[in-house]
Amino acid sequence: MIHFVGAGPGAPDLITLRGAELLRRAGMVVYAGSLVNPALLDYVPEGCEVFDSASMTLDEVLEKLVQGHGRGVTTVRLHTGDPSLYGAIREQMDALRVRGIPFEVVPGVSSFCAAAAAVGAEYTLPGVSQTLVISRMEGRTPVPEREGIRSLAAHRASMVLFLSTGMLRKLCSELVAGGYPEDTPAALVYRASWPDERVLRGTLAALPDAAEAEVITRTALVLVGRFLGDTYELSKLYDPAFEHGYRHGKAEP
Ligand code: SAH
Repeated sequence: MIHFVGAGPGAPDLITLRGAELLRRAGMVVYAGSLVNPALLDYVPEGCEVFDSASMTLDEVLEKLVQGHGRGVTTVRLHTGDPSLYGAIREQMDALRVRGIPFEVVPGVSSFCAAAAAVGAEYTLPGVSQTLVISRMEGRTPVPEREGIRSLAAHRASMVLFLSTGMLRKLCSELVAGGYPEDTPAALVYRASWPDERVLRGTLAALPDAAEAEVITRTALVLVGRFLGDTYELSKLYDPAFEHGYRHGKAEP
């Protein structure tokens, strides 16, 4: 079978144990070279065939996967972060289904999780937002009109924007046009968990200039929302007066 493996956000020890084990056994690896940290390839044994899919078409990727499967070697398709987000795995899975080739997906740590870790934030703060919106600016890949940045911004939920750093100025102005105040905290996290990780913090009004000054245009996530601020309520879960299935409430003294 073919193993679609989430490589995690970059740091080689942020792949899952299951993913690393598959790489250690691999006879063929096709990895998304534009985003996957090459250090992940250190897990691969000697003699394993390794292909970078950055310059390949879907058909070329499939050809390699089918070849690996035909040879009976452990065949890994390595995607950055978690493959379910902007991974273009559905078309690969469907093509394998048509060919009757079995596959599995091994999840990974998405970069949006590594970005929260990098800034020390929690997306779902009580009294601030209990919703995380994951989206992107429209690029060559269209975004359905009802999911435009403006309409998503109207919720003022916590947001993470993938694949949008190159359009940061437009993104921030759309977010403001949609309803986020200009002073809403925002952060740009470049290569979360890589050795050269960088974090820029600011507001929606200030972030584009900061990113321009630092020349960050790709492999970054935009985090937006009051969860990056200082005001929130304490959780109910750990509130001494709050009783739940695993803990009895303590009476107020
Ligand atoms: N499946 C991946 C996302 C692939 S889309 C995941 O779950 O993370 C590629 C986009 O992801 C990049 O343009 C960038 O916006 C973001 N990205 C991937 N790795 C990143 C990292 N380590 N730090 C910041 N952003 C990252």
